[in-house]
Amino acid sequence: MPEASHIPDRLQATLGLDEPVSRVRLVSPARAKALEKLGIRTVRGLITHFPRRYIDLSARETAASARIGESCTIEGVIHDVKLKRPKPRLALVEIGVTDSTGVVIVTAFRQPWLAEQLSAGMRVAIAGKIEFNYGFKRMVNPQILPLEGSDAPAHGLVIPVHPAGEKVTPALMRRFVSNALELAEGVLDPMPLELRVKYRLVSRQVAFRAIHFPESLAEAHEARRRLAYEEVLLLELHLMQQGAVRSRGHVPTAHEIAGPRMQALDAAIPFTLTDEQQQARLDILGEMAQPHAMNRMLLGDVGTGKTVVAAFAIAAAADTGGQALLLAPTEVLAQQHERSLGKLFDAAGITHAVLTGSTSESERAELLSRLAAGSLDVLIGTHALLEDDVRPSNLTLAVIDEQQRFGVAQRAKLLAKGDAPDALFLTATPIPRTLALALFGNLTLTYLKHRPHDAARRTTRVLAKSERGYAYDAAREALGRGEQVYVVCPLVGKDTQERDAMAGEGAAASREEPDGGAYHPTVAIEDDADLEHDDVAAATREAEMLQGSTFFDWRVELLHGGLPFSEKQQVMQRFHDNETQVLVATTVIEVGVDVPNATVMIVEDADRFGLSQLHQLRGRVGRGEKPARVFLVSASKQDVALERLRAMETCDDGFELARIDLSLRREGDILGNRQSGASVLKLVNVVRDGGLIEAAHADARELLENDPDLDAPDHAALGREVRLLLGATRAGEGG
Ligand code: ADP
Ligand code: MG
Repeated sequence: MPEASHIPDRLQATLGLDEPVSRVRLVSPARAKALEKLGIRTVRGLITHFPRRYIDLSARETAASARIGESCTIEGVIHDVKLKRPKPRLALVEIGVTDSTGVVIVTAFRQPWLAEQLSAGMRVAIAGKIEFNYGFKRMVNPQILPLEGSDAPAHGLVIPVHPAGEKVTPALMRRFVSNALELAEGVLDPMPLELRVKYRLVSRQVAFRAIHFPESLAEAHEARRRLAYEEVLLLELHLMQQGAVRSRGHVPTAHEIAGPRMQALDAAIPFTLTDEQQQARLDILGEMAQPHAMNRMLLGDVGTGKTVVAAFAIAAAADTGGQALLLAPTEVLAQQHERSLGKLFDAAGITHAVLTGSTSESERAELLSRLAAGSLDVLIGTHALLEDDVRPSNLTLAVIDEQQRFGVAQRAKLLAKGDAPDALFLTATPIPRTLALALFGNLTLTYLKHRPHDAARRTTRVLAKSERGYAYDAAREALGRGEQVYVVCPLVGKDTQERDAMAGEGAAASREEPDGGAYHPTVAIEDDADLEHDDVAAATREAEMLQGSTFFDWRVELLHGGLPFSEKQQVMQRFHDNETQVLVATTVIEVGVDVPNATVMIVEDADRFGLSQLHQLRGRVGRGEKPARVFLVSASKQDVALERLRAMETCDDGFELARIDLSLRREGDILGNRQSGASVLKLVNVVRDGGLIEAAHADARELLENDPDLDAPDHAALGREVRLLLGATRAGEGG
C-alpha cells in the first residue's frame, strides 16, 4: 500500500505541529517573541491562528458604486496618509484612497504603525463597511491590503485576514502561516474515517490549507466546517473522558433520600415550594439515590429559589452519613448561605459551619479536624474550601453555587475531595443547552423558570441621563414609605475605558471586525477587587453627592470591591438592618444579596453592562412582597445602545435576555471565564453552532462507548490529539 511508506513522515509532520514556532521559516527569535505576545508558541499555534475574515477581491466595488451602509472591497491608490492624535491616548491614521471614480477616506484607530507601513502612491485594496460623513465616503478600521511590493499576497482572489499586531503585520502573518503549513504537509488526520464520511468532511491537511488560503469563499467555508467540528469533538471527548476518570474505580454513593433530616428540613421550610422547585428536588434526589455519580446543573434566574433545593440535596448527604461541601464564589455569599441555610440546618439537625479566607487560624484548624473526623455534615465556604488540607472523611455531595464563577480546574479540585461524589452546580447564568454541553460534556440540566414571588411586580424603565431626576423622585418616594434603595455605578477600569474610547469612536480596532458594529463594552463581572484608584474616588464622590443633595434625609453608604471584607460585611449588615437606606454600590451586589425591603434600583451608565448582568442586578429588588422599580440610566446617544437596554423593559426572562445579549456579543463575555473548556473553541460559536455541538456530543459519546480510552488503531491519533490539545491526563493515570 503506498500509504504505508508515508506513515513515518506523517507521524513526523504530526509531531512537528507541537514544536516551537521558531521552526517555521522566517520566524527569527525576535519574531517568535512577537508571536508569543499574540499567544502563538508552536507550529500548531500558527496553523490554528485562523483568519478573522477574508477579502474577496472578486467582489469589488468602486468608490462611486460602493453603497453606504454596505461592506465591500475597493481597490485604489493611496493619495495621502496622516497620523492624528485627537486625544493623548488616542491615535488615528487617516488615509485617502482614490480610484478612477472618486475618493474613499479611511480612518484607522489605534494602529499608528499604519502611518509607517503605508505611503502615498501605494496600490491597496480596502475592505470594510462604507459610511458617509463629513462629505466623504469613509471606512472605519477597514482591512487594508497592499497589492504590490513584498507585502503583496501571492495568492488568488480571496485574501485571508489574520489577526495581527504591531510587530507582525497581516502580510507577514500570512507568510508565517504559509510556511507553517509546509511543515504540516502530510499530517495525520485524527478524525475517524466513519465520521469524515458521515459529514463529508475534507481531510485535516486540506482544511488547514483551505481555511488560510482558499480559492473561493465556499472552499473556506468547507474548511471551517471541518475544523469547527473537530474542535468540538475533541472538547467533548476530553470532557467525557474526564468525567469517566472521575468515577472509574470508585463506588458512588446511593443516597438515603427519605431520612429524618430530610423530613425535619421539609417541616422547617417557612414557605411552600413551588411546583418547579418540588420537581427539581424530586429529580435531584431521585438521581442521588442511584449508585452513580450525579453531574447535574440547576439553572434558574435570580430569585427562583435554587438554594433551598440544594439544601434538600445536602440533607440527603447528611442522612446517608456522608458530607457535603457548598462552594460559593464570594465571602458575602458564603456568609449569607450560612445565615439563611444555617437556621434550616439547625432545625433539621444537620451540623454546619462556614470556612472562608478570613476564618481565624484556630477556628479553621478546629473546623478541618471536625470535617476530617466526619462530625461535620456540611461545610459552606469560598475558595478556601479548595485548599489541600480541607479533607472531608466522606464527601458524597459537592454543591457549587454560581458555578460559572469557577474554572474547570477548581470544579475538579472540589470533586476530587471525595470518592466520586454527586455534583450539583447552581447557576443564574442562563446557559443554553448546547453551551452546557460544550462546557461540561455529560451533564443533566434542571431548569427553574419561575420565581416564587410574582416578578411582574417589578417594572424596569430606561431613562436618558437628562431624565434621571425622575428616578431619584421615585427613590425618595420609596424611602418615604420606609423602603430602601440601591444606586449602582459601574466601575470603569483602565481596560474598559480604553475599549470604550474605541467603541465610542465607532470601532474596536483589532479586537473586533470593523463591521461588527454591535460590540458593547462591558464591565468585568463582579470581582472588582482590582479596581482602579480613580474608580473608588469617583464612586465615593457619587455617594457623597447623593448624601449631600438627593438623599440628605437618609443615610447613604458606599459598597465596593476594594473594601476589606469585614467592612463590606458591616456595610451590608447595616443596609440589611435598615440602618442605612441607600446603598451606593459597584457590581459587588451582583450575586446573592438578599434585602427584601429594597424596592428601588437605579443603575447609572447602564449601557456599560451586559443584559444578563443587568438582569442579575435587578434581581436584587422585588424579592419581597412589595412592588419594585428599576431605572436604567444611560448617557449613550447611540440608538443601538438604547435599543438594547429597552429589551429590559419588556423582557423579564433571563434566558431570553442572554440570547439577545449573545446575539450581540461574544460568548466569551458571557462565560466570563477563560479557564472554561469553551476557551479552546476558536471557530465554534456556542450559540450559532448549536447543531454542530449536539452532533459532536452524540458522536463523542458513541466513540467512547465502544472505545473508552481511544486505544483502537483507528482512534489512536484522535486520542493523542485529545490529550495534547487539552492537556488531559490519560484515563487511568488518575486526575
Ligand atoms: P436564587 O435562585 O437566586 O439563589 P434564592 O435561593 O436566594 O434564589 O431565593 C431567593 C429568595 O426566595 C430567598 O429569600 C428564599 O428564601 C425565597 N424563596 C425560595 N423559595 C421560595 C418559595 N417557594 N416561596 C417563597 N419564597 C421562596
Ligand atoms: Mg443564589
